Amino acid sequence: MTASPPNEPTIRDRLVAYLEELELSTPSNFEAVSAPAATVELQARNHGFDDLAQRAQLILADVAGRRGDVAELGRVARAVTMWAEQHGDDVLLARGNRLLAVFFRRIGDNAQSLAHAVTGLQHSHSLPEPLRGSQLITLALVLDLNGQYQEASRRFGEALQIAEKHDDAYQALTIINNMAFTAFENEDVDTANDLARQMRTLAADRGITLDGLHLDTLARIALMQGHFDEAEAALQPVLDDPNGPLVSEGDSLPECLLTLVEIYERTGRADLAGETLDRASAICDQRGLAGVAARVHHARAEWYAAAGRYREAYDEYRVFHARSEALHSAEREARAYTMQAVFEAAEARRSSERFQALAYQDALTGLHNRRYIDERLTAAVAAAGRDGEPLSVAVIDADHFKRINDVLSHAAGDAVLQELGALLKRFTTGSECAARLGGEEFLLLLPGAGATAALHRCEALADLVRSTDWSALAGAIPVTVSIGVATYTGGPVSPESLLAHADERLYAAKHAGRDRVMGARRPAETVLP
Ligand code: GH3
Ligand code: MG
Ligand code: MG
Repeated sequence: MTASPPNEPTIRDRLVAYLEELELSTPSNFEAVSAPAATVELQARNHGFDDLAQRAQLILADVAGRRGDVAELGRVARAVTMWAEQHGDDVLLARGNRLLAVFFRRIGDNAQSLAHAVTGLQHSHSLPEPLRGSQLITLALVLDLNGQYQEASRRFGEALQIAEKHDDAYQALTIINNMAFTAFENEDVDTANDLARQMRTLAADRGITLDGLHLDTLARIALMQGHFDEAEAALQPVLDDPNGPLVSEGDSLPECLLTLVEIYERTGRADLAGETLDRASAICDQRGLAGVAARVHHARAEWYAAAGRYREAYDEYRVFHARSEALHSAEREARAYTMQAVFEAAEARRSSERFQALAYQDALTGLHNRRYIDERLTAAVAAAGRDGEPLSVAVIDADHFKRINDVLSHAAGDAVLQELGALLKRFTTGSECAARLGGEEFLLLLPGAGATAALHRCEALADLVRSTDWSALAGAIPVTVSIGVATYTGGPVSPESLLAHADERLYAAKHAGRDRVMGARRPAETVLP
C-alpha cells in the first residue's frame, strides 16, 4: 500500500466515513442506503478491507430486516458477528450484536435480544457518538420489552442527549416516540400527552413526515383517553396508503392495524374490526412476525367474545396462549436455535454452491477442472499412502485435435470436446473421477487401481472413444485419444511428479503412433519418487 500524504484521507478513511454516514441514515431512509452499501462492500473487498466489507453487509442486513426479511437479517448478523469474534473486531461486534438483538426481538425472543443488546453496547466504545446512540436505543427498547422501564428510560435519556448534541432530529424523534410508547404502556397519561406533543412539534419544525410507528403511538395515546376520532385521524395517512413508505418497515403495518381494530371495536364497528384482523393476520403470516401474530390472536378472541361467540373466543384464546407460550418458553429457544441452524446450513450451501460453480468446474464440459484436481489429487495421494492402497492417474489427450478445428471449425472442436467430456462422465464409475485439465487434455483419477487394472480401464476407454460414432460432429475425421498412465503404490511421491510421470507416458504413446495407452510395462517401474 502506498503511503498517503499527512492529513490526506486514505481510501480506508473515506470508506469508513461513508459507512458511518450510511449507518446513521439507515433508520430514516433505509431504501436509499441499499445500493450505496452494496457499492461500498465491493470497494472494500477490492481493497482487501474485509472488516469494512462485513460492515457494509450489516447495513444490507439491516435493510433486509426493515423490508420484512427477518431470516436474512438474522443470517447475516450472525455470520458477521462470528467473523467479528474470530477477528476481535469491536466495531463489528457492536454493530453485529445490535442487529442480532433486533432480530431476536422480531422473532419474539426477548431474553436473547437483551443479551445481544448488552453485548453490543459493551463493544461500542470505539464507535462515533451518534452510532453509540443507536446502540443505546436498541438496548432501551429491549429493556422496555422486558419490563425494565427505569433502566430503559435512563438509556433513552442518554441517547436523546447525544441526538440533541449532534442535532439529529430524526434520531430524537425515534427516541421520544419510544418514550411516549412506554408512558402509554404505563398508563401515564400526562407524560404520554407531553411526549406526543413534542413529537408533533419536532416533526413539524424539522419537516419530518411521521411514519407508521410514530402515528401508531399517537393513536394509542389518543385511544387510551377515549379520543376515538383523534386516534383514527392519526392513522389516516397509513390507511390512505397501506403499501406505501410510511409502513414499509417490519411490523409497523400490523401494529397500526391492531390499534385500528381496537378503535373500530370501541366505536361499535365490529365488521370493520373483523376485516382488519384478517388483514393483520395475513401480513404476520407472510412476514413471519411471531410476536405481533400472537397479539392478533388475542385481539381476535376479544372480537369473538364481544359478539357473544364464546366457543370461538375460547378456541382463539387457546391459540393465543399456545403462541405466546411458544414465544416465552423452551420452544422459544428451540425456535431461535432452529433459525440458527437454518442460517448456517443456508450459508454453507451458498458458499459450496458458489465455489463448485465458479472455482472447480470446467465451463465447456461441466467436468471438474484443473484446480479441483490439484486439491483432490493431493488428498487422494495422502489417502492412498495412509491406507496402503494403490492410486492411478491417466492423462488423456485427443489425437490431432488441431485438424478438427482447422478442417471444420472451432465450434465443431468445442462440440467434440463436450462430447468427450460427456463420454468420460458416463465411463467413470464408483470412486473414479474425470476432469478437464485444459485444451484437449483430460484426466482420469483411478483410486484403488494398480498398474494393471488402470491399464485395462484406460484401454477400455480408448476403445470406447475409437468405436463411438463421431460422424455427426467430426464428419470423416476420426476421433481417438492417447493415454499415459502412472500408478502410485506408496512412498513419498508428490502429486506433481505423479502427473509428470503420466505425461511422459502420454508423450511416449503419441510417439508410438497415437490411439493407444502407455502404462508401466512392469508394476515395479511404476513409481519414480
Ligand atoms: P496431438 O495428437 O499431438 O495431441 O495433436 P493435437 O493437434 O491434438 O495437439 P496440439 O497441441 O498441436 O493442438 C491442440 C489443439 O487443441 C490446438 C487448439 O487450438 C485446440 N484447442 C485447445 N483448447 C480448445 C478448445 O477449448 N476448443 C477448441 N475447439 N479447440 C481447442
Ligand atoms: Mg495436447
Ligand atoms: Mg492433442
